[in-house]
Amino acid sequence: MDDIWDLVVVGGGPAGSAAALRARQLRPDARVLLLDKADFPRDKACGDGIAAHGHDELALLGLPDLIADHRPTRRLSIVSPGGAQVSATVARPNHVVPRAVFDARLVEAARERGVEVRRHRVRALAVRHGHVVLDGTVTARAVVGADGANSVVRRLIGMPASPGRHTAIAVRGYADVPLDDDVQRIVMQGEGWPAYAWSFPVGDGSANVGFGMLLPRLRATGLPGRRVLHDRLAELLPHLPARDLRAHHLPLSPGRPGAGAGRVMLAGDAAGLINPLTGEGIYYALLSGRLAGEAAVEAPDDPLPRYRGELGRALGRHLRTTDALALAARSPRFIDAAIGVAARRREVFDLLVEVGLGAGTVPPSLLFAVARRWLGEAVRGA
Ligand SMILES: Cc1cc2nc3c(=O)[nH]c(=O)nc-3n(C[C@H](O)[C@H](O)[C@H](O)COP(=O)(O)OP(=O)(O)OC[C@H]3O[C@@H](n4cnc5c(N)ncnc54)[C@H](O)[C@@H]3O)c2cc1C
Repeated sequence: MDDIWDLVVVGGGPAGSAAALRARQLRPDARVLLLDKADFPRDKACGDGIAAHGHDELALLGLPDLIADHRPTRRLSIVSPGGAQVSATVARPNHVVPRAVFDARLVEAARERGVEVRRHRVRALAVRHGHVVLDGTVTARAVVGADGANSVVRRLIGMPASPGRHTAIAVRGYADVPLDDDVQRIVMQGEGWPAYAWSFPVGDGSANVGFGMLLPRLRATGLPGRRVLHDRLAELLPHLPARDLRAHHLPLSPGRPGAGAGRVMLAGDAAGLINPLTGEGIYYALLSGRLAGEAAVEAPDDPLPRYRGELGRALGRHLRTTDALALAARSPRFIDAAIGVAARRREVFDLLVEVGLGAGTVPPSLLFAVARRWLGEAVRGA
């Protein structure tokens, strides 16, 4: 059996790497082990969009230049289910970095900071003498479960998986685009709403393209899932034939994250931290991973309450906001109204971006403006 590790992190995606990096950043002598079932670089089905807030997280982790060699993307264009359009420059640029590159850089940075990285698929978890024992061989004072949407750690601590109504599924691929294409495009679809396609140019003549929808809506079609996803993507972005198509589930935030149990903290997708309005999860993965790593070394006797508290302070109001908005957004007309208002009012566009990609909340005055337009259109429609 190994010695006792201060922290064992399961999963080397953004959440897991952030946890490991933060623990060593705060306590350079901490014994930190990062386990992943894959060798890096590895691909991950994702839109590869890294929001400005995610970039801030990299700086907090001491890696401000990790993606500095990738071109920032400044323009965002959205078409709503009913055809309302907005196209504008975002207040702070986003980045598009293929996950095979981004995640490998994070893991390498963790290794350079003294984290031990091992290829290992976790299958079992037990609690012995106040420690967590993984697969009977790895003993830890604290564990961060950052093993993604189908988290084994989450299941092993007895927490149910994300329910179907809070789960989306999306396919992504890559397509050729002009080198100078720097607009992130989102095209929403009324059929089977909420559903949308995206095109996120990487900056190297390719773009990450994809299509996602709620799992119950996909099942309701009665058709093979792969066919629906591939066909809708081709329908919405006919000029961008995609290669390397790959799909994955997205556990959408139900408003309250499942923070963990005992000495095990969950971060990122394992905690169900994906924005239900946009499918954005990298920022929340980096943030929650950082907070979990912090709790593991700063409150080693009982890290979970500290983690839960910090996560609530950082994201609590935001997650409740996105949960409420996701409910309202079940009506495509609500989104039509919101995009319509955003096209006319700059501050509303900025706020939509904050709520969709960051930690923003919505002031009542704005909700009122959108509701008024929504009602107005409903009355006109009637
Ligand atoms: C098609 C699609 C498009 C998306 N687009 C975007 C986007 O553009 N922007 C955005 O911000 N978010 C996007 N997301 C969401 C984003 O991909 C996730 O929120 C993000 O990857 C979560 O990071 P994570 O570290 O929690 O998990 P992951 O990135 O999934 O990492 C989990 C890691 O755990 C490892 N692992 C799993 N099980 C075990 C085990 N038993 N033992 C050891 N290791 C294990 C895996 O190998 C993996 O490396 C998208 C998701 C999908 C599916």
